[in-house]
Amino acid sequence: MTVISSSQDAQERRFAELAGNLAAVRGRIEAACAAAGRAAADITLIAVTKTFPASDVMLLNRLGLGDFGENRDQEAAPKAAACAAAGVRPRWHFVGQLQVNKAGSVVRYADVVHSVDRARLVAALGRRAALAGREISCLVQVSLDAAPPAGTSQDGRGGAPPDEVLGLAAAIQAEPALSLAGVMAVAPLGEPARPAYARLRQIAQSVRSEFPSAVAISAGMSDDLGEAIAEGATHVRIGTALLGGRRAFVR
Ligand SMILES: *Cc1c(COP(=O)(O)O)cnc(C)c1O
Repeated sequence: MTVISSSQDAQERRFAELAGNLAAVRGRIEAACAAAGRAAADITLIAVTKTFPASDVMLLNRLGLGDFGENRDQEAAPKAAACAAAGVRPRWHFVGQLQVNKAGSVVRYADVVHSVDRARLVAALGRRAALAGREISCLVQVSLDAAPPAGTSQDGRGGAPPDEVLGLAAAIQAEPALSLAGVMAVAPLGEPARPAYARLRQIAQSVRSEFPSAVAISAGMSDDLGEAIAEGATHVRIGTALLGGRRAFVR
């Protein structure tokens, strides 16, 4: 064995591991869809590659995945650039809490921002996307915490209170460089996921009744994708089940 072939072996082993994980996740999505009477083709699987290298994005892309999620601009921007330099241009979804001063960087590579949760961020994304000559799909991130402590950012997980969602949706629609795709949420801590996702589904319906094209419901992670699909999720954001354990994980 030469040194060169051992690093190729490592990539081939990783490819096989990712292929197995992807098959298992697709199996779970199909089972959840069958149970809910839905078509698996209606679910977009987003691989959340935070903390994993660009090489994993490229391997998953070879396996047929075209949607990737990241939660920190400092990590996502160079990863997207590395992929683009290798000719791999998937759809990038920004799923993490976003500071206004990062909007100008994010709009350069992200196609979809799932974490729009305040008016200042709508304005910054709208202005920066227009300057960059890009159109960005936006989802309003909803906080599903039963009783968010007043004036806090809910453990840093973000999300607008449900009564602010329609106003944010209208603000997004009013920005020429932004389009409203739907709603997103992270399951609250210390509460079963399914009833929380049922609340999200109702909020999504109220948004869709005013904005008929806003059909996306981004919900479901490695542990609760079945509950999310049962409650109408159209986009699941899967990290651990596809890529393995991350070293540090703050939800
Ligand atoms: C990390 C992350 C995910 C993926 O979480 P897993 O439990 O590893 O599947 C999904 N959504 C957001 C917003 C995340 O930050």
